[in-house]
Amino acid sequence: MTPDIHPVLELLHVSKTYPGGSVKAVDNISLSVEKGAILALVGESGSGKTTLLRTIAGLEVPDEGSLILSGQVISEGRKAVPVHKRNIGMVFQDYALFPHMTIAENIGFGLKGMTQAEKKRIIEETLALTNLEENPGKYPHQLSGGQQQRVALARALAPKPEILLLDEPFSNLDSILHDRVREDLRKIVKATGITTILVTHHTRDALSMADQVAVIHKGRLLQMDAPRMIYNHPVSGYVANLFGKYSCINCIRTEGGMQTPFGKMPAGNTEISPRMSRLFCRPEHIIVLKKNSPQPAEGSVLTGVVEAATFLGDHVRIEVKPENAQKARLILHADTFYEPGTNLRFIIRPYKFVDFGDPEAE
Ligand code: ADP
Ligand code: MG
Repeated sequence: MTPDIHPVLELLHVSKTYPGGSVKAVDNISLSVEKGAILALVGESGSGKTTLLRTIAGLEVPDEGSLILSGQVISEGRKAVPVHKRNIGMVFQDYALFPHMTIAENIGFGLKGMTQAEKKRIIEETLALTNLEENPGKYPHQLSGGQQQRVALARALAPKPEILLLDEPFSNLDSILHDRVREDLRKIVKATGITTILVTHHTRDALSMADQVAVIHKGRLLQMDAPRMIYNHPVSGYVANLFGKYSCINCIRTEGGMQTPFGKMPAGNTEISPRMSRLFCRPEHIIVLKKNSPQPAEGSVLTGVVEAATFLGDHVRIEVKPENAQKARLILHADTFYEPGTNLRFIIRPYKFVDFGDPEAE
């Protein structure tokens, strides 16, 4: 057999405007999802995540573009394969469990065309997978939020869909449960090997759960990459800011390097694009050196004097005045507080030069 080299799902130039809507809820999105991968769709409220998910499910018909599931065109222009003929499992934001059915009955709901024995076996298997085997006879109202979510997940997984779609799976859980459920969910989904698309506005969920993260803004796909790439190599200030604090330092390209206000740095990726003139780094990439510590083997030592410092919980924002340049703002991890007047020696590692700025400064 030849290995399956096709992506499980492919979207090509998909657009959707709601009747009476003045802007596109989904605007020319193309992406593909590999078999067994978890893709997170991330964006602010109203960015079009749910619309995109519902389009994949077949609950919305796109105005333009096509969708291909396991090599079959399921949607092209206004022609679309209906929801029940797509092998897709969906978990809605409110779980939508059947209140008059037990856990086991909810899970068995989508299992059609099989013997009772086979159905029973799959229900038992799914109960075990989702850690619900203790009380399969309970009704939804007798369950906690976390358990209800697992029933909804089990019901969607039981028919072994080609793709699992989850819309804001954490929105009904309190924050204490949130971290644990996130880990459980990833484990369960990975154990089944089912390709999953997850919608969330929590960037931490996306970074920690997904293999690929797609950032959606105003219906458009801004960037799709692995979590570490999104975090460390954002394509724009908007994406950079969505995933955490960062520093952006203006630089001037000189011969053999980049002149920052704090000292000279090797040119790094400026070879690729000479117009780039800002250094981007996350708080954990600024390493402050102790008073008399020697210069580290890697990285140029930069210097300046702290003029002001603001403690902001997990990070500190400082204004630093270099000797011969205007002051600049840096965002550091909050492990130490830097009093005004402190002489700062630091290296930045890793860093990259970008063509976007600091949203707070603009
Ligand atoms: P998200 O899930 O990212 O919050 P949605 O996909 O729900 O975003 O919404 C995208 C845009 O489409 C928003 O501007 C929203 O107001 C609009 N929208 C969503 N659902 C409908 C609908 N049924 N009818 C008209 N407009 C809608
Ligand atoms: Mg939504």
